[in-house]
Amino acid sequence: MSDVLAVAEHRRGDLRDASFEVVTAGRELADEQGGDLHLAVVGGDVDGFAEELNREGVDVVHTVAEGEEFNHDVYVQVVEQLYAQVAPTTLLIPNTVNGLDYAPAVAERLGVPVVTDAIGVSRANGSMEVTREMYGSKVETTVEVDADEVVVTTRPAEWPQTESEGSADVQAFDADVDESAVRSTVTGFEEVGGGDVDISEADVLVSVGRGIDEEENLELVEALADTLGATLSSSRPIVDAGWLPKNRQVGQSGKVVTPKVYIAIGISGAVQHVAGMKGSDTIVAINTDPNAPIMDLADYAIVDDLFDVVPELIEEFGGESPV
Ligand SMILES: Cc1cc2nc3c(=O)[nH]c(=O)nc-3n(C[C@H](O)[C@H](O)[C@H](O)COP(=O)(O)OP(=O)(O)OC[C@H]3O[C@@H](n4cnc5c(N)ncnc54)[C@H](O)[C@@H]3O)c2cc1C
Repeated sequence: MSDVLAVAEHRRGDLRDASFEVVTAGRELADEQGGDLHLAVVGGDVDGFAEELNREGVDVVHTVAEGEEFNHDVYVQVVEQLYAQVAPTTLLIPNTVNGLDYAPAVAERLGVPVVTDAIGVSRANGSMEVTREMYGSKVETTVEVDADEVVVTTRPAEWPQTESEGSADVQAFDADVDESAVRSTVTGFEEVGGGDVDISEADVLVSVGRGIDEEENLELVEALADTLGATLSSSRPIVDAGWLPKNRQVGQSGKVVTPKVYIAIGISGAVQHVAGMKGSDTIVAINTDPNAPIMDLADYAIVDDLFDVVPELIEEFGGESPV
């Protein structure tokens, strides 16, 4: 018994990046244990999802045609039953709102420990070791789990996504869902904070921090975002001030983002912010302070006043600066 079972995640008809990241994490772990990687997808267009999930390193994709959209009570029952069939040593679940909703319940039913928000998992030394961040992301710690089986939730954007096509067996799993135990009905989907912008899906983010100084100055960064066809995001103080809704916040207590380009404007790069954007492909920072932590992370660091740089960038890219 040395297999790994991972659960994919989808939302509003699309698989989320975390599904392909959990494949990478699961494959690494299965290799260390000498076992197979089983991947489950529950609800929605499971056959279409199975085609997409057939990535290199996945041995079996289990499709479970139960529940049209995420439903806690269905997921808990189905994942528990699938676990009993596959009999893995480790169950990996993305550390998302959905994943955190059902992972502890499944672990409790299985009577196995759960470790959440992992940024590393390994059995290289025999026992299960899970790396997590502590004290507001200031230190990393490795937890040795004294159990043969464990449920682990994996933080999004910590593992690369497995891209290449695979040759997995696709197997339909016939779950026996007890409808009397399904106490919730999903009636719709609404993004917290209003609007339907999901910054975690954006390719280009223009992100604004406390350096913008006044709410009325947001107009300037909005103009840059419009010019670039980018999405506007921010650090936490901007959200705390009520200048942008919570769904725009990048970071530990906001969203994890992985855009192709992340433009950090007047953002210092505190660890809690960096936790949400360090997976960006290319980071551009505009900051008057050359010693701001974001500058160490940036691929392109512009040490200058944002009120000079941003209007120039807007004009350079063919837009019209409001100032
Ligand atoms: C438990 C916990 C969770 C948290 N979660 C999050 C989170 O999810 N996301 C998050 O962002 N923060 C989070 N924080 C807050 C975090 O610690 C920082 O306070 C925050 O990220 C700082 O935001 P900032 O970089 O916009 O502001 P500041 O740290 O004040 O930085 C402003 C930057 O703007 C620069 N600047 C000023 N004027 C200009 C100018 N004219 N032109 C160019 N640059 C200029 C300054 O040099 C400075 O570097 C959390 C904190 C805690 C304790």
